[in-house]
Amino acid sequence: MKFVDEYRDGKLARGIAAAIAREVQPDRPYRFMEFCGGHTHAIARYGLEDLLPENLAMIHGPGCPVCVLPVGRMNDAIQLAQQPGVTLCTYADLMRVPGSDAMSLIKAKAEGADIRMVYSTLDALRIAQEEPERKVVFFAIGFETTTPPTALAILQAQQTGLKNFFVFCNHVLTPAAIQAIVGAPESASKVPLDGFVGPAHVSTVIGTRPYERFAESYAKPVVIAGFEPLDVMQAILMLVRQVNEGRAIVENEYIRAVTQDGNVKAQAICDRVFELRDTFEWRGLGQVADSALKIREAFAAFDVESHFDVRTLPAKDNPACECGAILRGEKRPTDCKLFGTVCTPENPMGSCMVSSEGSCAAHWTYGRFRDAEKRKAS
Ligand code: SF4
Repeated sequence: MKFVDEYRDGKLARGIAAAIAREVQPDRPYRFMEFCGGHTHAIARYGLEDLLPENLAMIHGPGCPVCVLPVGRMNDAIQLAQQPGVTLCTYADLMRVPGSDAMSLIKAKAEGADIRMVYSTLDALRIAQEEPERKVVFFAIGFETTTPPTALAILQAQQTGLKNFFVFCNHVLTPAAIQAIVGAPESASKVPLDGFVGPAHVSTVIGTRPYERFAESYAKPVVIAGFEPLDVMQAILMLVRQVNEGRAIVENEYIRAVTQDGNVKAQAICDRVFELRDTFEWRGLGQVADSALKIREAFAAFDVESHFDVRTLPAKDNPACECGAILRGEKRPTDCKLFGTVCTPENPMGSCMVSSEGSCAAHWTYGRFRDAEKRKAS
């Protein structure tokens, strides 16, 4: 398939791996964070870590929208769904994310709440049009890639005069989170990082420009990369070269779709509907300033937070779950005592085991077999 097969070519991948091996300096470590869960999934699925030198480590980042949603916001969504007359529309992954007291949307549905899995914002709009007696709430999550469709849904609801369509807005921003990771105070567990692989789908919307100040201020290179194995390997090679040459700029590996300015039209639509929140809680990162969006006052008629009692009370993660440390890059899935024993994709104890982009789910699906092979070989 065009634009897929050629980016999964094993011979080419081994060629890039050989170039990385030639160019890394043996006397220093290289630690790169792949911010996005899509990259984490690709690294696990294609066994890319097996192609990298011993002194080059890929650290999984917090770029999985399901994973970073804090327990308090999950509790809000569950409580919204339990209100009489409410239909909550959500993407499938969120159904199994644990809230407090082992509750989840799927359990709330089993207890009678009207929760429906949708594939797009348009599905939620259609339900609102077809069932005017219901208050239809769309549970909006995601990074800059999923924000434009939510903005368009709100504009469409306004244009068609819908009075029963509401959005529970949890859209978050990638550059702010990367900055929070690097700018976090030093601690014993903080992982030193030499650079970032940035998500290409986010940059198809925002472009590469929003990372430029970050790369310069923190002296950390960023390479925007696609999600095929060769994209990721090429991005790692580009990072190695920047580190070796003492450069820290934003480079674009995904030139087939990403530009410096991104999709200006989509940005304008989002800007019309949303504005920055002062602060927002991320699982694992805590409160991060200017890292999320809220619906502008002009569209308050569609804002859950204007129409329902949404309090977002502080709520703790399962104390045995290491999702927070994993999302900060401080731990790996196998560092968690619950991994693969109590916690599996069928019975997730934390958000990182739910979505296929979560580090724990990716390692469960692909990485654990390599662990077993390595143990056998040693
Ligand atoms: S294995 Fe489960 S409990 Fe452990 S960190 Fe991952 S999601 Fe949390």
